[in-house]
Amino acid sequence: MSAVGIVAVSHSLRLAEAAQELAAQMVPGGTVPIVLAAGAGEDAGGAPILGTDATRVAAAIDELAAVCDGVLVLMDLGSAVMSAEFALELRASEVPVRLASAPFVEGLLAASVTAAQGASLDEVAAEANGALIAKSAQLGDEPQAPAGSGGPELEESAPASAVSRPGEGVRTVLVRNPAGVHARPAALIAQAAAGAELRLRRLPDGDPVPASSMMRLLAFGARPGDEVQLAGDPAAVERVAALFEDGFGEMDGPPSTSGSVSEDARSATETRRGALASDGVSTRSARSTTPASLSPGSTLRGLGVSPGRAIAPVAQLGAAIPEPPAGRLPAAGREAEAERIPSAAVEVVAALRAAAAGSDGEAVQILEATALLAADPEFAAGAAARVRAEGVSAARAVWDEAADQEQVLRGLGGRLAERAVDVRSVRDRIVARLTGQEVPGIPERADPFVLVARDLAPAETATLGRSRCAGLVTEEGGPTSHTAILARALGIPAVVGVAGAVGIAAGTTVLVDGEAGIVRLDPPAGEAVVSADQVPAFDGTGLLADGTAIPLLANVGGAADAVAAAAAGAQGVGLFRTEFCFLDRAEEPTVAEQVAAYRGVLAPFAGRKVVVRTLDAGSDKPLPFATATDEENPALGVRGLRVAREHPALLAHQLAAIAAAGAAEGAQLEVMAPMVATVDEARDFAAACRAAGIVRAGIMIETPAAALLASELLAVVDFVSLGTNDLTQYTLAADRLSAPLGALNDPWQPAVLRLIAAVGEAGRAADKPVGVCGEAGGDPALAPILVGLGVTSLSMTARSLARVSARLRALTADDCRRAAAAALGAPTATEARAAAAAALG
Ligand code: PEP
Ligand code: MG
Repeated sequence: MSAVGIVAVSHSLRLAEAAQELAAQMVPGGTVPIVLAAGAGEDAGGAPILGTDATRVAAAIDELAAVCDGVLVLMDLGSAVMSAEFALELRASEVPVRLASAPFVEGLLAASVTAAQGASLDEVAAEANGALIAKSAQLGDEPQAPAGSGGPELEESAPASAVSRPGEGVRTVLVRNPAGVHARPAALIAQAAAGAELRLRRLPDGDPVPASSMMRLLAFGARPGDEVQLAGDPAAVERVAALFEDGFGEMDGPPSTSGSVSEDARSATETRRGALASDGVSTRSARSTTPASLSPGSTLRGLGVSPGRAIAPVAQLGAAIPEPPAGRLPAAGREAEAERIPSAAVEVVAALRAAAAGSDGEAVQILEATALLAADPEFAAGAAARVRAEGVSAARAVWDEAADQEQVLRGLGGRLAERAVDVRSVRDRIVARLTGQEVPGIPERADPFVLVARDLAPAETATLGRSRCAGLVTEEGGPTSHTAILARALGIPAVVGVAGAVGIAAGTTVLVDGEAGIVRLDPPAGEAVVSADQVPAFDGTGLLADGTAIPLLANVGGAADAVAAAAAGAQGVGLFRTEFCFLDRAEEPTVAEQVAAYRGVLAPFAGRKVVVRTLDAGSDKPLPFATATDEENPALGVRGLRVAREHPALLAHQLAAIAAAGAAEGAQLEVMAPMVATVDEARDFAAACRAAGIVRAGIMIETPAAALLASELLAVVDFVSLGTNDLTQYTLAADRLSAPLGALNDPWQPAVLRLIAAVGEAGRAADKPVGVCGEAGGDPALAPILVGLGVTSLSMTARSLARVSARLRALTADDCRRAAAAALGAPTATEARAAAAAALG
């Protein structure tokens, strides 16, 4: 469902059609529903009669009410206004309606552009009503604000639009991309200006902003539809004008920024953990940390969750940078202290650029944009001036300068407010250099390292893949924690639940064995790093030895995963964890942003099956814009589909975006909901999918309630997919993040196998597909058992495809059924494993 639809009321149908055509050009793809209520029909000779009709306006509102959350009515003049007012009494629908006093043509353009971004009715109305401001100012109808500090002086007799100096170029450009001048366009502008003198001014009355200042560009806040004046070096003006005209390459929606680490997302997870103990150390970590011998040659044990072996020096996850104290320096030492700031900033820029050079894809843009922020001469100069004037330390001055910048960005709201996190990131990097601390989060190293941490926040895992991390060791976490899942997806050997690991000194060489679950300190020289067993690559068809087809699909979290999965031969996507695209977002992504993110996953699988899961926010994957941070027990709280009870628009927007992405890419789209416990939830979800135009709707079986109701659930949905990670945690009542409970979080537990068997049986009876998309699906030993229990497809990290395929190719359907029956009869997980192995000889 679209957020806002528009009714255009005009005396003239031709005028309304022409205005609609103009508006459509501002919104490529025409995603904003506009209904015309224009003219009063035709005379006997077929000529249009000018006029307006309240019943037509009412019908237009009712038509939009079926597909929109709100309706804005724009009208030309005279009786059009009266018809619109009367229509409010005639209409049958209840949808919120606003009548806008906006000018008809400009208002329609502004409203269309704003509505296309998924803005609220109030926001769309405000944009429409402000649509004349730019024109009025340009024509001199309004007094001009004086040029701001740092910008050029206006000559007294110069017209308001000419802020140029002799010999300079001037251009007026329109912000065309849907997200406006956010961080990425700001970075492109700064790069295109390439040190040349260039100023940007938002018309009609913005202050000039130098293109050399990334901070000021971020705070610039130009939005779609804004006019911007460029003045300065003629060549730079042309280069930057071309960027605006091209919509910064974002005319299909801005690229995902999911790669940047959000402190908000991290702190949401920390809040959850911190809730367990008031001193900020969770009882979970206290429980798992027992004294361990850390002398050379000693071995620490944990749970191997991602196979492979790696040897490298340890790097600890950088802790949060504490606020520097606000002391006072003697006057004599201030100059030297101030001079430390630009050199620390230069070092940070160099480190970021080096990291960018060693990265690829989206990571390069993110690192380059952060480097540009760090290179901002105004930031370093502002901080240095504080040292000289206030006598504070260099670290404190950087901290305070960043706080001011953040406040400016937050005041601008929306996506720009979200960039405050980038300013903090630059602040922390510079302060870390100045004070000799590790940069917070995943270390940035030129050489491979073994990352040691208590655990990783979901947002930190997002940056793991672009670091030089060769192995991973955590004190917390279980086999199905997000950290374990990500390590497997990235092919990084990992051991979780290693008591005392954070005590290993940085720089110590360790061997990580992700199969055996051991970490050896200072291993003997020559200890071999043996790669995982070599198996033939997956050929793209999951088959049993007797020819039974078992499609092997991939679990993905975004476009990069999808591209890798397609290259690994995945027959489709069995689980697209959409929440992974938005872990760093403080506010709900717009529909346009969502469409762009989903298309990135659908595109590599055109013509093939892609199962998109709606946001599984909450519990171990909190999303700041969807999740409460004060739940006593988030795993049993408002997570997954339950979030839609409190935020129905969130689900409606997501389904609209998924449907639009599916239509654009032509994959075989299926959509499923996480964390379903009742038949009503499943029925409502399926109805919402169908209303959004999604043909195949399913649910995940992650709760014992859903497993026990599988027959009833399959009566209202088209398929189910077993989320064995959560099904196991809820069946065994064992937190999947808990290291001490790792052995309970085992899908071989007979109670879990019996629930899976019940679901398989229900699927056979209903003749509907039963998939597995939990980590169990990628375990070559368990896969045949799942098939024997009635599972019809398996979805896994792309790296497991080859091993699972090889195992299934060696067995018939009868073999799988026999082994499943043997496992099902066993009283313990250990005996189930042994019984299955014996049955398969
Ligand atoms: C599961 O619970 O098995 C599952 C696939 O979902 P997630 O791991 O994302 O919670
Ligand atoms: Mg789950």
